[in-house]
Amino acid sequence: MCGIVAYIGPKEAYPIIIKGLQRLEYRGYDSAGVAILNGTFNLYKRKGKVSDLVDFINAKKTNGTSGIGHTRWATHGKPDDTNAHPHTSGDDNLVLVHNGIIENYAVLKRALENEGHVFKSETDTEVLVHLIQEIQTRENLPLEDAVRISLTKVIGAYAIVVMDKRDPEKLVGARKQSPLVIGIGEDEFFMASDATPIVEHTKQVVYLNDGEIAVVNRNGEMEIKTIESNKIQRPYVHQLELQIEQLEKGGYDYFMMKEIHEQPKTIGDAMRGRINADEGWIRLGGVDEYSAKMSKASRFIIAGCGTSWHAGLIGEYLLEDLARMPVEVEYASELRYRNPIINEDDVVVALSQSGETADTLAAIELAQKRNALVYGIVNVVGSSIARITDAGSYIHAGPEIGVASTKAFTGQVTLLTMMALSLAHKRGTISESYYHRLLVELENIPGKLAKVLEKAKQIEYIAREIKDANNALYLGRGYNFPVALEGALKLKEISYIHAEGYPAAEMKHGPIALIDENMPVIVICTNKSAYDKIASNVQEVKARKGMVIAIVAEGDEEISKMADYSIEIPDTEEPLTPLLSVVPLQLLSYYIAVMRGCNVDQPRNLAKSVTVE
Ligand code: GLU
Repeated sequence: MCGIVAYIGPKEAYPIIIKGLQRLEYRGYDSAGVAILNGTFNLYKRKGKVSDLVDFINAKKTNGTSGIGHTRWATHGKPDDTNAHPHTSGDDNLVLVHNGIIENYAVLKRALENEGHVFKSETDTEVLVHLIQEIQTRENLPLEDAVRISLTKVIGAYAIVVMDKRDPEKLVGARKQSPLVIGIGEDEFFMASDATPIVEHTKQVVYLNDGEIAVVNRNGEMEIKTIESNKIQRPYVHQLELQIEQLEKGGYDYFMMKEIHEQPKTIGDAMRGRINADEGWIRLGGVDEYSAKMSKASRFIIAGCGTSWHAGLIGEYLLEDLARMPVEVEYASELRYRNPIINEDDVVVALSQSGETADTLAAIELAQKRNALVYGIVNVVGSSIARITDAGSYIHAGPEIGVASTKAFTGQVTLLTMMALSLAHKRGTISESYYHRLLVELENIPGKLAKVLEKAKQIEYIAREIKDANNALYLGRGYNFPVALEGALKLKEISYIHAEGYPAAEMKHGPIALIDENMPVIVICTNKSAYDKIASNVQEVKARKGMVIAIVAEGDEEISKMADYSIEIPDTEEPLTPLLSVVPLQLLSYYIAVMRGCNVDQPRNLAKSVTVE
């Protein structure tokens, strides 16, 4: 959601900023803009893609060695050229880009209008740049001090970068609840929403913390202060491990397809050094450290949004089934605004691919206030959730660029599986032999997943048969119920077909009324425990002329005979099934979306990293 890129140094800023904005496109946006400083600001803004902005700028003036760029995901005011960032102060001396929401913008705007300020856009952001101008002129302050004082008057979430044309040797950046990373090069600095625009220039970065303001200048100096004006003595410089190739499509048409195919490797990476079936151990950072607290917890609360919430549901089945642990799964956005019962003997597991999800961050703060242990499972290294949780593990899936999550989902499920197994072993809730069998099988999953990917051609064929549907129903039981939800979400996200996931038995309580020959019903039937029950559900659909696409275990006969199409996946232990059964659903959505002419990696209205509430 939204992307910020800024540069100051000896090189031309424009190409660096445009390339950086392209790297951030995956986050989701609706308009883009740049301001390059060269005496005055060369400022260009456009609704649409970064390529539209580049076409619009064409041969216009862009030279200058400092500047800022932005991709906007509109919250306040429609996506158009005027509302796009950067925004300027009334006197045109300042430009600012912003990610987040200024919640008290209306009050501030009224006060500024009373002082004579005139606003050009409908955004909350423009209010902030006027406020900085007002404070700077009134109190005759350097830019960074005016920014700092202005931010004490702001309620909301922000990452901002500001420039002053009268003080051209510096950039000022600040953050609260929205990410901002500073890249440190040779006499040059970068600021960006994440490390992807920075990594090709330098591997040295500082992740700004909430309530911090950074000033970087052309002499290679950086100073970070808190909003209370306390200097951060030695900011921690991280070494990026990200590789440029991870940000390229590597021969695939879309990142999503690349990421689906990476899953045998990424699941392997999630397990690397953490599990050894021969020796019978699992070591998950934090779970061992907080072993007593976790295994004696009165309850686990798993919080997430979207696909992460689905992974959380699988976590519930795993922790309950294997470790006999009571679990509640919560939408982070609901949890934070209720008055939930969270105690110090609870463990809260926060799931987020980006590690920046605003609602999940807020739910963590709430849990920490109530003294629960908070465990984070995230993908993006150095992200906010990774830094504020008490313990946690990275899923090590590498950058996930496709907006529809695939490899991050299976990574999250892999980690939750290891967590459940580790706790089950410590709590003695499963037998040694079953524990061992599951470890061995978990190590086999990457190989089996590679076999599922071999079904791509068959799945493409099925996709062609159902690509024109207006609705689809996904059914599953037990471990495959959250998979059904995830399958439906994937289809909605990228192909814009309305789809719903249901527990197979619940179909009779409503959705069965929708079934006719135009309704594809995707049934995940790999369960051993409730096979007969799900076979009956398939019969019920067929009796009403529904078209059944069944995901079955290799060698299945009964359901395959009834279904219109069946996709076989390798047999596995039931708790591990979701890691395989979700993959045909990812592929099915992908092919349908491509056949419908959709932009799979950047579906409309969606953002990758949801940094606003
Ligand atoms: N709230 C601001 C706007 O609507 C910033 C949105 C963003 O994060 O892109 O312009």
